Amino acid sequence: MGKVSYNRVKIIATAGPACESESILRQLIEAGVDVIRLNLSHGSWETHRQVIDRVRRLNFQLGTHVALLADLQGPKMRIGNLPQAVPVQAGEEVVFSTENIPGAIPVEYDTLAQDVEPGDIVLVEDGRVRLEVIESDKKGTVRLRVLAGDRIGSRKGINLPGRPISLPTLSDKDWEDLLEAIRQELDWVAISFVRSPADIQLVRNALRRFGSSMRIMAKIERPEALHHLEEIIEQSDGIMVARGDLGVEIPVEEIPFWQKRIVRTSNLMGKPVVVATQMLETMIQNPTPTRAEVTDVANAVLDGADAVMLSGETSVGAYPIEAVQQMQRILRQAEADPQIYRFPGQPSPTSPTYHSDAVCWTACTLASEVGARALVGLTYSGYTAFQLARWRPQTDIFIFTPNPRILGSLNLLWGVRAYYYRRKEGTYDTIQDVLSILKGLGHVDSGDTVIFTVSMPLRARLRTNTLYISRVP
Ligand code: PGA
Ligand code: MN
Repeated sequence: MGKVSYNRVKIIATAGPACESESILRQLIEAGVDVIRLNLSHGSWETHRQVIDRVRRLNFQLGTHVALLADLQGPKMRIGNLPQAVPVQAGEEVVFSTENIPGAIPVEYDTLAQDVEPGDIVLVEDGRVRLEVIESDKKGTVRLRVLAGDRIGSRKGINLPGRPISLPTLSDKDWEDLLEAIRQELDWVAISFVRSPADIQLVRNALRRFGSSMRIMAKIERPEALHHLEEIIEQSDGIMVARGDLGVEIPVEEIPFWQKRIVRTSNLMGKPVVVATQMLETMIQNPTPTRAEVTDVANAVLDGADAVMLSGETSVGAYPIEAVQQMQRILRQAEADPQIYRFPGQPSPTSPTYHSDAVCWTACTLASEVGARALVGLTYSGYTAFQLARWRPQTDIFIFTPNPRILGSLNLLWGVRAYYYRRKEGTYDTIQDVLSILKGLGHVDSGDTVIFTVSMPLRARLRTNTLYISRVP
């Protein structure tokens, strides 16, 4: 385990052709990757399954719990498969069609022609190409004028800024992908283009039906989601500030402010939050980032992100390992700033989990008061891990759980390191045992103070109700 770099703010890396080999995946994990994202907009389950197998093998070899996150495509309009990119220039007319028409650019989005009106703006590849609708036959074909841009690439995303989408949040493909993610027992599922809390509920019900312990992440990338932010965060286990699509759906200059608002709201509501997209974008081609990118990553940490994400940098970039190493160095530096450990909130007396939340909050406060070396949560559901992480303690957080199915999901949480542990009969024996394990791992030394949050009696699996302060023998 010593070889693997450890950071409080977690790193999510997107899998893709540039990093799918076992040897590169190993180097990514050793450089500090905590979560691997399978982007289900691309690739096949055949390759995804290979990545899953490799990550699991590496976890076993390295003693890590690198999580797997399935990112559903959602109702994303895309250019269809093109043998090569179509060059375009301003002033030119092009035809988009969902039908197979010679000379038309194929589009994967059945209701495109119904959803647009003449004068609407259409963006391809996050705004690389900007077009205006001239006319739509309201069946499957749309004529457009190119306003700006150079080429339309195969399978690139399409946005209709400001236009509501008529499709449900989960397509047939998304449901199939969700079922496969459940079968593969992945740790997290991300729902793209969430518009309302009902979208989350739908997936939550499906997970419950299948007895899945997968956690749900809501990707905030539609204007509708900004209007229901608190309810969506309430229903979700985690949040992603998906700046790519969000930055074309709302004016891009509003992104920094929404990022801060989404991160702050998630922090206050105790939910992990990820800042994503274009974080080290130029490292797709270059071995070093720009000053602006480095500053952006550090600012995401200062905003309060639990995790930061790499997309093209690791999936298709020329420098996937360098990008992770660079990310890790930025995070290490940012974590040296005392400001990131200062958290203004307090547990809410109206919460149904108020007592256990208050125990976890007190544990974090006590840890700083007595200069504890470690905070340990003994938990079955993993709830304690979310509660300890949310108060951003400067003390290291360790989670010991007899539930192997939650180990991966907790790896996304700020500062959390989780271990599988089959506890002893009694609480006192368990605590002594965990202290000697932590000492054996080199995380604590004799004489260090360690604070435990526990639920008593252990085997009843109640909510956390006990705080225990101990010294390592
Ligand atoms: P995507 O999501 O990479 O799946 O589009 C992230 C984003 O939109 O920022
Ligand atoms: Mn997106």
